[in-house]
Order: sequence, then C-alpha cells, then structure tokens
Amino acid sequence: MKLTILGCYAATPRTFSNPTSQILEIKNQVFLIDCAEGTQVQLRKSKVKFSKINHIFISHLHGDHFYGLIGLISTFMLLNRETDLHVYGPKGIKEIILIQLRASGSYSGYNLCFHELESKSSETIYEDEKVIVKTIPLHHRIYTNGFLFKEKNTERKLNIEAVENYNIDKVYFNKIKYGGDVKLDDGRIIPNSELSFDPQTAKSYAYCSDTMYNESIIPLIENVDYLYHESTFLESEDHLSERTMHSTAKQAATIAQKAKVKNLILGHYSTRYSTIQLFKQEAEIIFANVHLADDGKEFEMD
Ligand SMILES: [Zn+2]
Ligand SMILES: [Zn+2]
Repeated sequence: MKLTILGCYAATPRTFSNPTSQILEIKNQVFLIDCAEGTQVQLRKSKVKFSKINHIFISHLHGDHFYGLIGLISTFMLLNRETDLHVYGPKGIKEIILIQLRASGSYSGYNLCFHELESKSSETIYEDEKVIVKTIPLHHRIYTNGFLFKEKNTERKLNIEAVENYNIDKVYFNKIKYGGDVKLDDGRIIPNSELSFDPQTAKSYAYCSDTMYNESIIPLIENVDYLYHESTFLESEDHLSERTMHSTAKQAATIAQKAKVKNLILGHYSTRYSTIQLFKQEAEIIFANVHLADDGKEFEMD
C-alpha cells in the first residue's frame, strides 16, 4: 500500500502548495481521494498514469477538495477514455458535474457512475476480492465523509519450493492459496501448512479531512496502520478551529492516541504558519509516530 500526497494545504492554491488530493495504491487499485484544483498537474509530477484511476472518492463539496474534478473528467474525455469512472461523493455532486458538462457541450465517451452519499452512519461503498472501502462520517460545516481503506488478506502465500518438490500442478495453486490441502496421485495428502505461508497482515488507511474533534470516529479507525487526520490549526488558534469546524494538531494527536493507530499523518495545514514542523512538535507531545504530509511526498505503508 502506498500513499502519494498531491496536495495537503487548506483553502487556496499557492505558489508552492496545493489544496487536498491524494493517491492511494492498494492491492490492484489506484484510488484518487479528493480532487482539488491542481490535481492534474500534481498527478503528472508524481507520474501517476491517468488511465489507472477508476475510482474517485470526494469527502465533501468545499472547493479545496473537489474543484479539480470537472477538469480531470474533461481530460479523461480528451484522452479518449473508454473505461467506466466511479465517483463517490456527497449527494449533489452528480448534478454539479453534469451541469458543467452540459453547458460546455461535452459528451463523455465513457460511463460516469456516480455513487451519491447521504448516510450519517458508516457504510461500505466499495468492495472487491482484495479491498474494502467504508465511509467515516465526519463533523464539518457541510456533509462530509472520511474514508477507511482496508486490504483483505485471505490469500496465503505459496511455498514455491515445497510445491515444486511435490511436483504439484498449477491448477491447485488457487486451492492452496485459500487454505486447501492437496492429494497427490499416490494418495498422500499434503497439508496446507507445508505448501503455504501465512498471509501478510492486512493493512489499513483512514483518511479524515475535514473535521472538528470528533471522538465518535474512534471505533471506526481503531488500530489502523495509518491515519491521515486534518490539523488545520495549532492549539493557539483553537478558537478559529472551533468556529470553522476544523481540528488542531493536538486534537488530531489525541484522536490518534485514543484510537491506538500505528501512525498519524498530519495535513490540511493553514498557510498562516511559518513552518509545518510546528504541527509535528505539537502533536508529538501526545502521540509518538507523527508524520507530516507535504505535496509530492510518498508514504510506503508496507
Ligand atoms: Zn478543506
Ligand atoms: Zn471543508
């Protein structure tokens, strides 16, 4: 699992900082999480292939999280995309996008599949054999969801040496990966434990932006490997944080500590501060494993 931060600053795009967007590569998928202005340029800089993006998750309809979406959808048209594109986001997102396409006389050659969200409880919005995605209801000025991405590790790892020693045919490999024993031609039964290794532990990533301090998310994000939690402000500006329904670095760290996550990534910084190191310093008083998101930064999560 790998996370690439395309943008992680609050509000307006600036010379050297971009509003929110991230790429999560998880198992067989490349997921785009939020899509602010500048996302396309940042995708180019990070060398992410546009054609690999089939699922886009939008947390909420503030501009610093989705004003890049119509541009990306248009570019997909210019690139003659044919594959379905799935967009998960708050109710209303379909109308917003379709109005813009209609007004510009644009007709998509691919299917745009909108999955509009309006539930205030967590729900599963995507699932395949290897990955599951659930919403994390957040508290912000408008309807907002975070997203929990979890690998499913049902497959065991083949013990190639043992499989070759017993001369086991390829057709049995899937059976072995799912825990089955194998009966040889001479009648001997080889137990699965001899033919495979335990699966790697399934990794998880929780994305929580934008939100005010909200302990009700803790049961949903408990023990995740990586938590991205917004920290728009420092504690010195907690009055602003409360008024705008954002979080401070200290609050993000408190959530991380209470949810017993393994790593905390901070982001969605207000640009009023001289250095983002201040966010790390404040969070580290409460929680040990603090990382700072920054535009272009990659996190290998294996
Ligand atoms: Zn925001
Ligand atoms: Zn917002």
